[in-house]
Amino acid sequence: MLGEVRRAACVAVGDELLAGDYPDSNSGAIALALSELGIVVERFVVLGDRKDDLERVFYDLCARYQLVVATGGIGPTLDDVTREAAAAAAGVPLERNEAVLASLRESYARRNRPMPESNERQAWFPRGAQVMANAIGTAPGFRVWIDGGTLCVLPGPPHEMKDMLRRELLPWLRSTCGQGPGIVRKTFYMLGLPESAFSDRAGAWMARGAVPLMGVTAHTGILKVTLLGKGESVEGAERLVSARAAEVRERFAEEIYSEDDPRPGAAVLRVLGERGLTLAVAESCTGGLVAELLTDVAGASRVFKSGWVTYANEAKTAALGVDAALIARCGAVSAEVAEAMALGARARCGADVAVSITGIAGPDGGSPEKPVGLVWFALATPSGVRSFEQRFPPVDRASIRRYAAHVALNLVRLHGR
Ligand code: ATP
Ligand code: MG
Repeated sequence: MLGEVRRAACVAVGDELLAGDYPDSNSGAIALALSELGIVVERFVVLGDRKDDLERVFYDLCARYQLVVATGGIGPTLDDVTREAAAAAAGVPLERNEAVLASLRESYARRNRPMPESNERQAWFPRGAQVMANAIGTAPGFRVWIDGGTLCVLPGPPHEMKDMLRRELLPWLRSTCGQGPGIVRKTFYMLGLPESAFSDRAGAWMARGAVPLMGVTAHTGILKVTLLGKGESVEGAERLVSARAAEVRERFAEEIYSEDDPRPGAAVLRVLGERGLTLAVAESCTGGLVAELLTDVAGASRVFKSGWVTYANEAKTAALGVDAALIARCGAVSAEVAEAMALGARARCGADVAVSITGIAGPDGGSPEKPVGLVWFALATPSGVRSFEQRFPPVDRASIRRYAAHVALNLVRLHGR
């Protein structure tokens, strides 16, 4: 049906998108997935829940693009009109699909609940449409042919959309639209390097027309570096990317913490786990964020023993044994107190390694000697304690806390390497 589909459009449907309640993340996720099949998305459209509007846009886009992927507006309520609009654009009536209705009723029966009347709407599809099952929600999606192109409709909630994309739409596209040019992507996650320093060290790899193309984005200390290779075939693209990837691994050996998992906590747990080391954390200005980033990862208890959030000076003394006179003399944000916190945490729970963080996240509380963004870290290990100072740009409080948490995790990771 599709032949050599190479161009597509995405439509995000929902009044709330236009009201600014949440941004459209579905279209970007779809475009990324399609690009891996060599299909280029050339247009994103955002529309409210108005049937006439949707009908016209579906019709026009299908005339120009062989593939149109819409998300949202297929729920059970009357304000969900995407299915009506799709049928109208295709010039066919809606028909009830008895098999889908039966399975909807069954899924309610399994949970011992009567199916609300309004859910029956989800069993109606444009005549001739192919239904795409929804493995994790109630609303199935569908594909319908509209003069010149196929309209594919997926649910709005992102996790349902992604699940249906992966299980239903991509396999169908792979089987219908043939093998196109190959596009291969490779990602590296790095810590401990500002974006500009990365760019200097990457040199010509970052040039605009470089092959493969390299891109970098920075977020609170984490760099996400992507390589994009395009070739006549997937194998050709793969060769381009893997050759450069080997060079990247060598040049940034110290900074790369993962090639697939963006979570720095996972990298820390992996490197310490490999060496059989345990970890404790003493946090002041990050308020538990480091512990959260660690415990976010399943199986963290093998490595992560304990964390303290010692925010007030008295808490640093009572919980970690930091000398009150030391705090009075050096200030809570100082190398000395950071070191005492790390030593205290390590001793109190018997961990191999402890990291501490104490700093000024702002917006108030800064002074000329100790400005907002100043953070002290210390790392206590079997061979002693070392402290490190960082001065983050005085951005917002949340970002400084996140920057600091990432630096702390990176100190531990580098120790574990
Ligand atoms: P439901 O059965 O949940 O009503 P639906 O297919 O009708 O599903 P919508 O009602 O349009 O979908 O959206 C449901 C929720 O999914 C929204 O409240 C929003 O949180 C999320 N969502 C919808 N569209 C998008 C989008 N384009 N980008 C990000 N999130 C979205
Ligand atoms: Mg809805």
